[in-house]
Amino acid sequence: MKIAVVGIGVAGSYLLARLKKDHEVIGYERMTEKKHDSICAWGTIKSKMDELCSKADIDFEKHVIHDGKNLYIEMSNHQRFDIRLKGLCTYDKIGLIHDMADGCEVHYDVAPKLEELEKEFDLIIDATGFHRPTVGRPIRLATPDLCEPFYHGKVVGVGESIGTVYPLLGEGIIPSMVCADLFVKNLGNNEQYRKDVLDYFAIYSKVLNFIKSKMKGEFSLAKQFRELFNVYRYMKKNEDRFGMEIHMKDLMKIAKA
Ligand SMILES: Cc1cc2nc3c(=O)[nH]c(=O)nc-3n(C[C@H](O)[C@H](O)[C@H](O)COP(=O)(O)OP(=O)(O)OC[C@H]3O[C@@H](n4cnc5c(N)ncnc54)[C@H](O)[C@@H]3O)c2cc1C
Repeated sequence: MKIAVVGIGVAGSYLLARLKKDHEVIGYERMTEKKHDSICAWGTIKSKMDELCSKADIDFEKHVIHDGKNLYIEMSNHQRFDIRLKGLCTYDKIGLIHDMADGCEVHYDVAPKLEELEKEFDLIIDATGFHRPTVGRPIRLATPDLCEPFYHGKVVGVGESIGTVYPLLGEGIIPSMVCADLFVKNLGNNEQYRKDVLDYFAIYSKVLNFIKSKMKGEFSLAKQFRELFNVYRYMKKNEDRFGMEIHMKDLMKIAKA
């Protein structure tokens, strides 16, 4: 298939690396090659990145900058606490993006028009993330269930463009790559891709409800304890995936802040 990947960030570059063996893939990135960068804190989890990168024959370890031991949290009420880490690291994010795009044709400094891509390609992947102005640098707080449709005509959305960000942590690197992985697994079957994305990210909407009520100042521990406990249970079960020790007492501190 001839595939256009629009947006060479985490998801787009990963897709180039995963699809290049079996398909003709061409990337488009609106930044210039010189200014191509990635607004982010570059924090991620080693074990999951090792697993995802190995599927693209890429050695993640060589991009690791700092292997963390403790995370220091300071909240808006000035309360501070430490979280012990289990694999949370920082890495050279743009270095990995370039490593993944290596050997592929990528056009920089261009935001291609859909009508032009439609004429040339069998499939167009929207991996454009979220438009970030230089000030504010927001992330998308709209989980996949709120970002449908994921596909229309020849276009399929992957990554933060369809809301794959964990609302409690603002973590979008691994979720975007997992989304790309689901896309590759279901290539050619958009409906199954949609179902798998909704299924995998279902918990994200529950977490978003908690975050929204906190942001509106409407969170009630008495009324929403079960909701909070479900978030805790999910994160505790996936401690290694989140790269940190998860304790209910820490979530309670966040809930009460
Ligand atoms: C300040 C900040 C800190 C963050 N820190 C972390 C962190 O530490 N850990 C973590 O896991 N997540 C973090 N995130 C979230 C994470 O960076 C994103 O969720 C993740 O990069 C999304 O990946 P993506 O590939 O979907 O989109 P992106 O990585 O945003 O890539 C999208 C690409 O598409 C390009 N593009 C956009 N529109 C067009 C167009 N029309 N044509 C061509 N190209 C286009 C963009 O220039 C960009 O290169 C942070 C986000 C912000 C804003």
